[in-house]
Amino acid sequence: MNEFDLIETFFREKSRLTNSNKIFKNKSFIGIGDDASVFSPPKGFDLVVSSDLLIEGTHFRRDHTPESIGHKVLAVNLSDIAAMGAEPLCFTLSISIQSIDEAWLCKFCDGIFDLANEFSCKLIGGDTVRSKENAPMFFGVTVIGIVPSGKALKRKSMELNDDIWVSGSLGDPTEALKNNFFCKKLFTPQPRLALGKELLDFANSAIDISDGLSSDLLHLLGESSKNLKRKVIATIDFLSIASCLGPYLFSCYLKNKLTLNECCSLAVASGDEYELCFSARKEFRKTIKSLSADLDLPLTRIGEVISEKESKEIFGFNIKQNIIWLDSKGLPIDLKNYPSSGFSHF
Ligand code: ADP
Ligand code: MG
Repeated sequence: MNEFDLIETFFREKSRLTNSNKIFKNKSFIGIGDDASVFSPPKGFDLVVSSDLLIEGTHFRRDHTPESIGHKVLAVNLSDIAAMGAEPLCFTLSISIQSIDEAWLCKFCDGIFDLANEFSCKLIGGDTVRSKENAPMFFGVTVIGIVPSGKALKRKSMELNDDIWVSGSLGDPTEALKNNFFCKKLFTPQPRLALGKELLDFANSAIDISDGLSSDLLHLLGESSKNLKRKVIATIDFLSIASCLGPYLFSCYLKNKLTLNECCSLAVASGDEYELCFSARKEFRKTIKSLSADLDLPLTRIGEVISEKESKEIFGFNIKQNIIWLDSKGLPIDLKNYPSSGFSHF
């Protein structure tokens, strides 16, 4: 099997079977097989584009299952699309592998196309290259989504007095990597697309948690501060994180292996979560609670957005940090006990 057979068998053939938007049935659509792909975006929508690269050794290990690698490379991009409140349309896939292992590729494709089908996201092109012996494999995906024109959810549009919310549970993926236990969420994260789409109606800002809540929340605050031209601060009720703990971390607390504070610290610094952190006005609390029930997805209110002036008024002194972690009495936690920030490549 050569490069072209590989593209034909594994990618072109399987892309035909994917459920997809009706725009890909249009005569003007050109998919895999030409120099580039062509399609007409639906009227009244903006295109939303996101790319992520997964590299062996950094994002996955060779002994991870091919299904999970396939699933994850698409899922992490879909998670970005979810954070923008968008709906996925199609994607490209670039791969660099050392040799053609058909059995491995078949399972890799199962991982990708099961998820692609679930969200009706069509493969429309990509690139295939051979990596040198001993060089890491890598997989890159670019997803293209759509959102009603002008409506995309952004990081920069937090408003003062917004509540801050987080979806799902936190902590287990990082603990699973450290302690070598199986964690479904680490290998097959579920992009929160249904939530993202609903958030379009009322959330002011959103981000997906890939590096850890503590560092991703800083991006919301940083972008929103620039946008509002004044510093915005998040006060986070540290123990509210206790109700977001993943089952493993929670069991560590129950078995007295870790204190509740330790569990919460680990949870807020844990990356690879692919949950959404968003802000919304207080008047939407009821709506969010019923959305949580409808989606069967926990949505936890963890804090609020305040101005620098308010923070001075409340706490009586100037706090430099953009996130103020509060103890059970509502007082700022001592800086030396602050949870560490999340993951950064450099
Ligand atoms: P070119 O040399 O003109 O860049 P290629 O030979 O790389 O074209 O690709 C041929 C066709 O196969 C293109 O339509 C490309 O988008 C598609 N393709 C190549 N690799 C992949 C892949 N991994 N997944 C999906 N489509 C692919
Ligand atoms: Mg060409």
